Amino acid sequence: MNERAILYRKLNNIPAEWGTAVSVQAMVFGNMGENSATGVAFSRDAATGENIFNGEYLVNAQGEDVVAGIRTPQQITIEGSRRWAKAQNITEEERAEKYPSLEEVMPSVYGELNEIQHHLEVYFKDMQDIEFTIQDGKLWMLQCRNGKRTGAAMVKIAMDMLREGLIDEKTAVLRCEPAKLDELLHPVFDKTAIKNAKVVVKGLPASPGAATGPVVFFAEDAEKVLAETGQKAVLVRIETSPEDLKGMLDAAGILTARGGMTSHAAVVARGMGKCCVSGAGELNIDYKARTINVNGYTIKEGDWISLNGSTGEVYLGQVATQDADLSGDFGQLMELAGKYATMKVRANADTPRDAAQAFAFGAEGIGLCRTEHMFFEGDRIKAVREMILADDEDGRRVALNKLLPMQRGDFEGLFKAMKGYPVIIRLLDPPLHEFVPHTEKEQRELAEEINVPYEKIAAKVEYLSEVNPMLGHRGCRLGNTYPEITEMQARAILEAAMNVHATGMDVKVEIMVPLVGNHKELRYQKNIIDTVAQQVFAERNDKIDYLVGTMIEVPRAAVTANQIAEVAEFFSFGTNDLTQMTLGFSRDDIAKFLPTYLDKNILKADPFQVLDRNGVGQLIREAVMKGRGTRMDLKCGICGEHGGEPSSVEFCHYAGLNYVSCSPFRVPIARLAAAQAALNQK
Ligand code: PEP
Ligand code: MG
Repeated sequence: MNERAILYRKLNNIPAEWGTAVSVQAMVFGNMGENSATGVAFSRDAATGENIFNGEYLVNAQGEDVVAGIRTPQQITIEGSRRWAKAQNITEEERAEKYPSLEEVMPSVYGELNEIQHHLEVYFKDMQDIEFTIQDGKLWMLQCRNGKRTGAAMVKIAMDMLREGLIDEKTAVLRCEPAKLDELLHPVFDKTAIKNAKVVVKGLPASPGAATGPVVFFAEDAEKVLAETGQKAVLVRIETSPEDLKGMLDAAGILTARGGMTSHAAVVARGMGKCCVSGAGELNIDYKARTINVNGYTIKEGDWISLNGSTGEVYLGQVATQDADLSGDFGQLMELAGKYATMKVRANADTPRDAAQAFAFGAEGIGLCRTEHMFFEGDRIKAVREMILADDEDGRRVALNKLLPMQRGDFEGLFKAMKGYPVIIRLLDPPLHEFVPHTEKEQRELAEEINVPYEKIAAKVEYLSEVNPMLGHRGCRLGNTYPEITEMQARAILEAAMNVHATGMDVKVEIMVPLVGNHKELRYQKNIIDTVAQQVFAERNDKIDYLVGTMIEVPRAAVTANQIAEVAEFFSFGTNDLTQMTLGFSRDDIAKFLPTYLDKNILKADPFQVLDRNGVGQLIREAVMKGRGTRMDLKCGICGEHGGEPSSVEFCHYAGLNYVSCSPFRVPIARLAAAQAALNQK
């Protein structure tokens, strides 16, 4: 018998031996007149997590009427009702007359409801979403369930309940859904910018966060604006309905003129973690003219507005945002995650800015720096192109010498940002064709810029183009055909590390060789790195520790991991390429058939997002086992996109990885997922 059945039995004095095979339910009606009502309540605030009983009701109504957004629901508590009235610019007199709370209208029923909600929460040890009906002055409980909540409320409720002694630390950690943390990590309005912003109307704070964007009035326009401009729009509707779902997903935020905190827009937006202001009744929306008239202003389609989903305020124009505050409850949850996780979480970061962001989110190192990303910054691309277009090794070395100080500077920034935590820097990986201009116009411009005949550039670009570049001249194959590239990068990494170390900072250097499939490929690269290291150490009459490891992203590397580990001092599973090569699905072309494969249930999820445990996962397990068979203390991690996806993180835990590495904004998600995996295992 489940918990709810037991509670039902207890509440209704049903003897255990009766079982629960049949449940007889009374029919009750909330629309039997002025002494009847119906409502939806939450034992805590589903948007903010605040420990306040709240909800909405309507006199002489059916449940449908409360959520449909047709009649404006009233608040259950006096306090909630006053807050609501303030947000709506309604005077206390008008509120008390037209929109009184249940607490005022039916005080004794309210008292009973308040007591029951408290009991239910203590019993289920979670925030409850309660539906009730009042028929002729008598309260009937229809149902209760754990309430849906925003990411912010999820964290606050878990941490509050932990402090209240209602749940323990492990439950608090397990209670929070990793993917929902995402909502907390997004920017809020800049405090100074918001001071100067003009509030044009106030609605209900239906789903927290900040949103800014051009106004659109139809869901399909939100989709269109995003697809065409990459900009998320603010979707303004009188009210939303299920057909608007995709547009809501594509919008930066949602503003509605009608509907309460339990309206479609509010509930759906909260579920999506999207900023939403609902029930801004003063908005006069004209769908035909595509305008809003509000308090003397006319806002046209395409004009920018900004929403504060935590206060319900709507501002004219674009308001600058600032990063989310990661202290308080969030910080405490992250501390607990750190306490229970056994895997570390690193970040994939290519710039000091990303690295600092990752560090702020609690990353304990960098698991992947894709050095080629630095090649596109500033003047670097010019030197890179010179290197690629050079006729011979000497020419390449001249260009590489120009790149050396730039790369060294980049790496110094990364080491500093990571404050002594390990930093994995990967040697050049993409095919060189990616760095050269592809159109005739760009090639002619480059010819002029670097003083090389256009024909020569065009011929080189043609020579570099490959039928199947992802399986072509890339990864360690580049460093093995042009050792001078590896030499330059190894020198830049080691010199940067020594420079930062000289300032008194701890530095942990890990150099990673990409796309190895054969241990000899790695040996060749390691020899180059070690030789450069000896040169640099001799020049400086100093030394620094460093590790040389490899990505395991070619299936052959996984199955010959015992040989590879003879050379590699660490493994990092590059599950993007490993998935591509194991499944034979191009990571760039999967979208063409993925929807059909999902539809036909051939695949359960996109294997580039959720790790394919039975295929790729088995290769990972085998490689870890074989690698550690050769080198017992082999450090193993993952740096493909899967490193920030909760179910893949769980798999990595079971596979015995030492760390996962993911993009900075997914670090908290991975930390929580890692803790949950460890707790679930125990
Ligand atoms: C990978 O293949 O998983 C990886 C991290 O490398 P990239 O995505 O740069 O190929
Ligand atoms: Mg790769």
